[in-house]
Amino acid sequence: MAITAGPVLFDEPLDRYTSLKVGGRADALIFPQSVAAIEKLVIFFREGGHPFLVVGNWTNLLVRDGGYRGAIIVMKDLCRIAWGQEDQDPVMVDVQAGVSLADLVRRTAERALAGMAFCAGIPGSVGGAVMMNAGAYGQEIKDILCKATLMDDRAVVTDRLRNDLSFEYRRLNVPEGTIVLGAVFRLERGDLQSIRQRIDEILGRRRQKHPLNYPSAGSIFKNPAGNPAGLLIEAAGLKGTAVGGAKISEKHGNFIVNTGGATASDILALIERVQQEVLRQTGIVLETEVRIVGE
Ligand SMILES: Cc1cc2nc3c(=O)[nH]c(=O)nc-3n(C[C@H](O)[C@H](O)[C@H](O)COP(=O)(O)OP(=O)(O)OC[C@H]3O[C@@H](n4cnc5c(N)ncnc54)[C@H](O)[C@@H]3O)c2cc1C
Repeated sequence: MAITAGPVLFDEPLDRYTSLKVGGRADALIFPQSVAAIEKLVIFFREGGHPFLVVGNWTNLLVRDGGYRGAIIVMKDLCRIAWGQEDQDPVMVDVQAGVSLADLVRRTAERALAGMAFCAGIPGSVGGAVMMNAGAYGQEIKDILCKATLMDDRAVVTDRLRNDLSFEYRRLNVPEGTIVLGAVFRLERGDLQSIRQRIDEILGRRRQKHPLNYPSAGSIFKNPAGNPAGLLIEAAGLKGTAVGGAKISEKHGNFIVNTGGATASDILALIERVQQEVLRQTGIVLETEVRIVGE
């Protein structure tokens, strides 16, 4: 029986996909083309007791060097956008999980729809952004979310209104195995010129502050309350510290960059070193924002 019509790659090296450019091989990488295909996959994996992981754009993932034993479902081909009534305000935009935020920021700006600009420069997908409650410059995905379409581990699909969902800082609280299939965002009719200006301003700030010329996963650590992790790391004298090819960026203390040839073990060792040193100097525990998977 064919479980999926999309491509399947076996024993696939994941450093080709992760934004950190590290990670061992996955047993299988699957690119479903429809919700129906995902449904079949979830049932197949659940009945067989096979582990699986869902990913979007791989920009908040650290895959260990031993790779992932199981299947990885990549959402990138679920990329439909349905535009709501554009003569109304607000305008509802219904987006599948695989759409990249970059694409959505660009396409909503073209239509003079305001509300997505804070996502400019966040390289994730819509599904990853909902799962991570991605945010920047004082706003988070939950602030513009109207509803999310979720599939549970029994392949049952439900639409959940924003107020029925529990978001935290960089996290949507849902049971293990939940898949974000799509989201409806509430955007406002705006002025094309000022939306473009805001996006340019944000992209400019990111270029200035972030080490965008090296592979990274964005912020490695969550900001503890009242204390930006980057400043704690800088104050601890850790900027520039390296393990193998992994280095704490000189430009931003909360970015670990792959300066070439880093392994996941290098990055994990550096994470541990930073956590220990910041704890020793300040008593503050730094938690990782990046999701660590694999063996
Ligand atoms: C240069 C750079 C800058 C960044 N700046 C920011 C920033 O300003 N703010 C911010 O919040 N983040 C930032 N990030 C991190 C990252 O882009 C976000 O967390 C983004 O939302 C992750 O989306 P993704 O599709 O890449 O998720 P992935 O990395 O593919 O996955 C992240 C997690 O979400 C899960 N997941 C992904 N898609 C789904 C789905 N459809 N259903 C269920 N689970 C899913 C995965 O299993 C994993 O646990 C940055 C990253 C980089 C590299």
